[in-house]
Order: sequence, then structure tokens, then C-alpha cells
Amino acid sequence: MNCLEERILKDGVVKEGNILKVDSFLNHQLDVELFDEMGAEWAKRFEGVEINKILTIEASGIGIACVAARHFNVPVVFAKKTQSVNLDGEMYTAEVESFTHKNKNNVIVSKKFLNENDKVLIIDDFLANGCALQGLISIINSAGASVAGIGIAIEKGFQSGGQIIRNLGYRLESLAIVDGMDPATGEISLRK
Ligand code: 5GP
Repeated sequence: MNCLEERILKDGVVKEGNILKVDSFLNHQLDVELFDEMGAEWAKRFEGVEINKILTIEASGIGIACVAARHFNVPVVFAKKTQSVNLDGEMYTAEVESFTHKNKNNVIVSKKFLNENDKVLIIDDFLANGCALQGLISIINSAGASVAGIGIAIEKGFQSGGQIIRNLGYRLESLAIVDGMDPATGEISLRK
């Protein structure tokens, strides 16, 4: 069992609606030491794969991606969920339905930071139905860049995203796969 899996069993809280709450180490308070071990593990798994950029999505992906990037020595770009005056010039956009907020956002990446020479590793905290990943993949495709791989911290294996993304042929490396969780007992079962 890896450090992330141990931590999920120790501190993860199962909520109604298929939500795993991990705010004490991943989504609110951040365990940077743990992120570092996760980054090292992705670097091991993607050894030999050409990667020159990491792409993630705000907000929870950013911290994980930044610490992981130290193991790849590449810059991190994050997709923004809101338009702002700081976002100027041409942009790639994709519509993403939020699993946790149940609303739709246009996620946005400036054309300055993604181009056809990029070989991109996507990093995110959770994989549920795969909407966030499909939005990021669509942005990478719009830029003419290529998806070198996908690193997910926690995949909920009982939801459809993992299968959809693997069926599309992407290399998906999830550090922990939750196969079931029970809000009544709090029990979490992890894939061996
Ligand atoms: P998807 O787009 O794959 O349906 O959902 C992935 C996104 O929803 C992730 O970026 C994450 O922010 C959020 N998410 C999905 N499931 C969970 C969950 O069980 N717990 C938390 N904390 N976030 C989740």
C-alpha cells in the first residue's frame, strides 16, 4: 500500500453523493510531503516518456501539479475556471461539468502557454466521471499538442471516468483507486 492509500484509509471521510472528503491532506490543508512522494511515484511510472509540460485545473490540481513538476523539471499550466482581466489574448476553452459543484464552467488556457510542440502530462486530484479530464484533453487537442499521459491522485473506480479515459487509449496512472465507499459505515475499499 502506498502513502496516499494509507492516508485515504486513515483520514478520508465518506460523504453522501459518492464524495470522498480528503480536505485534511489534499483539498484544503495540503500535505506537501505526501505530494512530493506522489510526484516521485508519477516520475517513476512515466520514466522514459517525453514530457515537457504539466497541465492541471484550478483549484485543487495546482498544488499537486506544482510539487510533481519538481520531479519532471517542467512548467505547470493550469486551466482557469473564470474569465478575468488578467486573461488576455487568444484562448483555448472547453466546457466542463463540475462533479462537486454540479455546474458547468468554461475552462480556459491562454494560447501563449500551449502549442503543437508540447507533450503534456495532465495531473488532477480526482477522477470521477471524467468530465474534467475530457475538457483538458480537448484543450490539448485544440492546441495541436499531445497528451503524454495522465496522473490522477484518487480515481473512484466505481464511476465511469477511468474506463472512458482508458478506452480512449490514454495512459492513465492513478495512485489510489477507490472501488467502493459506504457513507453509513465510513468504510472505504481500495483496489489491490
Ligand atoms: P470528474 O470531472 O471526473 O467527474 O470529476 C473530477 C473533478 O471533480 C476533480 O477535479 C475534483 O475536483 C472533483 N471531484 C470528483 N469527485 C470527488 C470526490 O469524491 N471528492 C472530492 N473532494 N472532489 C471530487
